[in-house]
Amino acid sequence: MTEHSVPVSAADAGEGVGHAPVLIHQLCFVIQHAIRNSIAVPIVIAVIGVACIPSVGWPRYTAWAASTLAAFGIRALLLRPGMRISVIAENPRRWIKLLFASTWISGIITGSAPFLFFPALEPIEQMFLTMIICCMVTGATASLGAHLVLYASYAGIFMVQLILAWLITGNAHASFVAILLLLYGLIMIGFAANFSREVMTGVTIRFENQELMSQLVAARREAEAANAAKSQFLAAASHDLRQPLHALSLYSAALKLRSTDPASAEIAARINEALESTTALVDSLLDISKLDAGAVRPESRRVSVKALIERIHADYLPIASEKGLSFRASPEDVHVESDPALLEQVLRNLVDNAFKYTSVGGVTLYAKPEEHTVRIAVEDTGPGIHESERERIFQEFYQVGNPERDRTQGLGLGLAIVRRLTRLLGIELHLESVPGRGSTFAVTIPRAAGEPVAPKALAQPADARERTLAGARVLVIDDEPSVRAGMLTLLGSWGCRVRACGGYDEVQQQLDDDASGFDLIIADFRLRQNENGIETVRRLRARLGPVPALIISGDTAPERLREAKDSGLPFLHKPVSVDMLRQRILDLLRP
Ligand code: ADP
Repeated sequence: MTEHSVPVSAADAGEGVGHAPVLIHQLCFVIQHAIRNSIAVPIVIAVIGVACIPSVGWPRYTAWAASTLAAFGIRALLLRPGMRISVIAENPRRWIKLLFASTWISGIITGSAPFLFFPALEPIEQMFLTMIICCMVTGATASLGAHLVLYASYAGIFMVQLILAWLITGNAHASFVAILLLLYGLIMIGFAANFSREVMTGVTIRFENQELMSQLVAARREAEAANAAKSQFLAAASHDLRQPLHALSLYSAALKLRSTDPASAEIAARINEALESTTALVDSLLDISKLDAGAVRPESRRVSVKALIERIHADYLPIASEKGLSFRASPEDVHVESDPALLEQVLRNLVDNAFKYTSVGGVTLYAKPEEHTVRIAVEDTGPGIHESERERIFQEFYQVGNPERDRTQGLGLGLAIVRRLTRLLGIELHLESVPGRGSTFAVTIPRAAGEPVAPKALAQPADARERTLAGARVLVIDDEPSVRAGMLTLLGSWGCRVRACGGYDEVQQQLDDDASGFDLIIADFRLRQNENGIETVRRLRARLGPVPALIISGDTAPERLREAKDSGLPFLHKPVSVDMLRQRILDLLRP
């Protein structure tokens, strides 16, 4: 029994229906039909009048007709509010009592016609009245039949009075008619039993469907809340990881620059490798949380499939030859309508997996133009994916056969990102695989209309090392002492003259002591005591003039990402790749 059910006895509920919500629906159904069918009562009264008034006379007929009309009228008035489920739900027991009492009273009054009229009627008129009463009993199946106990008692009241009236007449065939009437009454109750079962099944199904729907809605809400909580957790975790990682990457870059002996260089290289894989994990987490938070907005453009495939092919050829695999590409000269960067990320993820999991044979990347779409597929001769795994591999952190979570075997996030990206881009993702023979991951993208446009290659940083940063005056604002120290070391090793502060107040103090200006401000986004790096840069610019500035943040919360984007200031995510940082600084110093 659910929380909102009211304990009801089997007698109350009719046919053993102990579930209050179902009983309430049943009661409402019966009351609605009983009131609607009351319209037939005056017609029946009139028909009986036509048949009986000549023999019975007006006074006796009028007394019966008036009390019958009054009984049905009062019943309809009393039951009327019960046509609404909410009213019945307030007190179902009261409505059961009212329904039974009013039905029994109107049954006794109406069914008294044979008793009152038979003594004055000819046998043929008695037969006619019997037929009309039988019709009433039959008609009542439609209104009361949904509640078997109610109908059986109502039909019983009519039939018992009718049978007794026949037996009292002492007619030759009275007992035979009485037996026929008894049989008729039982058959009618049998019909009603079927009818009420059907109605109850219908009501129960409807009720169960409603219950199921509300359970589904509740489950969906729960899942959405859990998803939001997970994204929040990921964003927070990735922020907290980014801080120390950022500092570490600064130190490791500085270490690499300074290591002169081979052993130290080897250690620095290993540290860099470890950092790269950790950074890849944090980046994937950031990708997922950004996608879940709706912070990625695709910008659809015309994309050349040929250029896209050629670019990926060129990038992965060295990896193919290193693994002794073939890499064939068939670049079709067609165009699709999609976000170029996000589409490329999808395909690179798929090609990456194909090479990672294939050890014999090779990988094929091809495009197949259809009438309105282009299918781009990545086919490999790898181990294939068993049918039972084909859905699960798209879940976060799910990996087939890597229970020890060996990092070198990946993170289990690639396909989770691919699925989110394809959903975001509104493109279909298909997977076909034969275990032991290989897999094909494919996307179906809408074809572009109109003239081809040259594809924009993804921005590649120019070789930053040829240019120098020597002498550049850089102000670093970060509340993390380790990051400040790391920046001092790294930027110092590039020849910059660096001053590092924890926040605006500290910068002000330093400026009071030495008012020489800066060529660049590098500020953390979230500083101590709710200080915001963007705001700090604005305040400093008000004092120092339009100094170029760069914001670096470990924050991945979508509203903060948007705020940073809206500020118009260049923005980098922690941990920043050292090459990228150098490139950005150079760009900002000499635009
Ligand atoms: P990762 O590759 O980092 O483990 P993914 O989310 O990209 O994470 O992939 C999830 C799992 O799907 C992998 O562990 C791998 O078992 C399986 N998988 C993905 N691509 C392929 C492929 N081309 N061939 C065989 N298995 C694959």
